[in-house]
Amino acid sequence: MTHLLSQRWPWILAAVIVVAVYLSTIIEIHVPDVDPDPRPIGTLDDIRAFADRDDTNVLFVLIDTLRADHLGSYGYERDTTPFLDTIADRGVRFARHLAQSSWTKCSMASLWTGLYPPHTGITRFNHALPPEAEMPAEVFRDHGFTTTGIYRNGWVSGYFGFEQGFDIYIKPTPSIVPLSIRRENPTLTTQGTDLDLVSTAAEFLRLHKSERWMLYLHMMDVHEYTYTAESALFGTTNLDIYDNAIRHVDDVLESLFAELGRQGLLENTLVVIGADHGEAFGERGLEGHARAIHRETTEVPLILSFPFRLEEGIVLPNRTANVDLWPTVLDLMGLSFPDEVDGVSRRDEILAGGQRESGVPGEEPYRAFAYLDQTWGSRGVKPQPSVAVVEGPLRFVVGKEHGPWIASLFDSETDPLERVNLAKKDPDTTARLKKIAAAFRDEPSRWESGPQELQIDEMELNQLRALGYSIP
Ligand SMILES: [Zn+2]
Repeated sequence: MTHLLSQRWPWILAAVIVVAVYLSTIIEIHVPDVDPDPRPIGTLDDIRAFADRDDTNVLFVLIDTLRADHLGSYGYERDTTPFLDTIADRGVRFARHLAQSSWTKCSMASLWTGLYPPHTGITRFNHALPPEAEMPAEVFRDHGFTTTGIYRNGWVSGYFGFEQGFDIYIKPTPSIVPLSIRRENPTLTTQGTDLDLVSTAAEFLRLHKSERWMLYLHMMDVHEYTYTAESALFGTTNLDIYDNAIRHVDDVLESLFAELGRQGLLENTLVVIGADHGEAFGERGLEGHARAIHRETTEVPLILSFPFRLEEGIVLPNRTANVDLWPTVLDLMGLSFPDEVDGVSRRDEILAGGQRESGVPGEEPYRAFAYLDQTWGSRGVKPQPSVAVVEGPLRFVVGKEHGPWIASLFDSETDPLERVNLAKKDPDTTARLKKIAAAFRDEPSRWESGPQELQIDEMELNQLRALGYSIP
């Protein structure tokens, strides 16, 4: 009998096995990741029929201090938001969306009520929403939804009237911040991270997923320039670190969607992702927010993600604003605001596939406004309202900048970064928009009671100072 090793075939077999194992590792490396998005494909008809469904929930994620032009889907050259860009590609993206202020409380009061800041009157540090304010959470609660808000910014606390309509309205318990987390906002230190929102939300969903629910999560890691070693991709300047934080929050959003998936909720939850204002990086000699209302602190993202994925995402090219957010979402859900508000539903424009180029029918040209009382944080000082009027490609801003009052006119069509003040070159347009701005500024509150004025105690003030705001 010939010895096995003296034969040829065992060697050939061994070689074949070695090559096969090698090839299998190559093949394995090239197997694409399984798409974790289990949602069915949807169409405009599914959006049209969305209002008739009785199984849908709403998750509203507010990313504090997120400016639109730092997202990939809004044209940013850095890869800050790979996950959110995918969500936008399969949902609805509002391409020219204006926040109503660059200061959280004023902006959020308008976002929730659909009323512009002069109509809410919530313009100073001690103002609170009165019980008369009609809040979307009240609408949802009245329709049988379990309503919960979990927030990390003290300006939207129940103390300022933002809890109206919520069954539960809480700050999450801050976990011990892992060593891998870095936080580099030069002005801030608060506890915990946005991952606390995800874990608190996960707990809420486990308890309430058999009910119909509306959940609001107010994230702060971008505001606080919080990021991880993995998201530290862009460098060391303030702007770089802000981008690191956006990339980190993009990861947080991915884990939030993964949690929805684990709990089987992706196929019946409408997710709304928005922001209250942007952030300045010295464009006009100012840093941060809540000081002026130019494009960098008021142009924000708004993205809707349905419980189904659109094969081709819808982009709304029209001017829209945060006052439109709840009129649109409630309309899509088949619900409505009880009273007349400034914002309008953009459902028709979404159903038109974002095709309509003009603004709201019957109101041409469509105008949107931003407002900031530049002395909002000072006691016993006269209000100093700055107003921005946005009309087509034009933005007129009147406010105090480095001392004197300045009126600025920008044309984003010829000057996308809005650096060239055309006010002197085009005095007629400037005078026309100045008049509109002044009339807007002087409009009274829509509520008989006006804003509530609180006697803020030292403890609450210290909490707000800890958020980085200077309050005397
Ligand atoms: Zn804010």
